[in-house]
Amino acid sequence: MTKIIEWDKGHGGIDPGAIGNGLLEKVLTHKIVEYAMAYLSANYTGFKQSATRKGDQTLSLNQRTDKANREDADVLVSVHINSLSSSSKGFETFIYNRNVGDATIAFQNILHAEILAAMREFGEIDDRGKKRGNLHMVRESKMVACLTENLFISNPAEAKLLKDEAFLKAVGEAHARGVAKFLKLPAKKKPVQKPETKPKEEEIVEDGVYWDGKKMAKGQIGRVIILKSLPLWSPEKKKHRALSVGDVITVYRINETDNYKYEVGGGYTVSNVNGYVKYEQVPDDLNEANEAFYNG
Ligand SMILES: [Zn+2]
Repeated sequence: MTKIIEWDKGHGGIDPGAIGNGLLEKVLTHKIVEYAMAYLSANYTGFKQSATRKGDQTLSLNQRTDKANREDADVLVSVHINSLSSSSKGFETFIYNRNVGDATIAFQNILHAEILAAMREFGEIDDRGKKRGNLHMVRESKMVACLTENLFISNPAEAKLLKDEAFLKAVGEAHARGVAKFLKLPAKKKPVQKPETKPKEEEIVEDGVYWDGKKMAKGQIGRVIILKSLPLWSPEKKKHRALSVGDVITVYRINETDNYKYEVGGGYTVSNVNGYVKYEQVPDDLNEANEAFYNG
């Protein structure tokens, strides 16, 4: 049986709800519900969900509960932010103060615990308790219903949390988990992780003599390190490509007779332009070892 979930974003449109510390309740509750709905869609199946308002519409309390009743929802969650004084703080939930069944009490227990735990990942949060009240949203709705008051917009420290998108996301997702747990929604099957088919390549270290981690070539006498970009030049092939700063090029011979100073293999040369390259000669011990390696 497909479960039906009604999310109430609280306030909206011309009714901003509580205002404080640069925040509007209607904006925060919109975000929390959007995070909740996205999380449910991503992780569970077997349900349909909708929100009393999609965006910033103005809805009366009756319009909200009428929608939930008309859709014959299994649960209704009304999301709010509290406001009182700058020192008021904490999280609380409400169910109707009379004629509530065991299911409603169970739902409040599950939802309250999920949200409080998620909030406490961000710091100390007062538990104001699982309360009962004569509130329209929980009174006029025919299904299991719970209203959450997610911290105080009037408290600067709690407003700081409410300004943190990661906090709103965590609170929204906790609402979703609470609903999923209560309705026993099946978890979406995650795509099976394919086992790593390619075994991790072991680092293959070739035999040879290494100069600063780079294997030396046969006949190498030095290296040029490129300090400024300049072309790799082939007088014969009449073509070149640009060398980049930091490139390290193997040198086989130094041609003293023209300005193509460094012969770097394949008929290519790197000019010894002052300030563009830095030449380094192979250190004696490496030179001997390299000769021994190639010449046996
Ligand atoms: Zn409110």
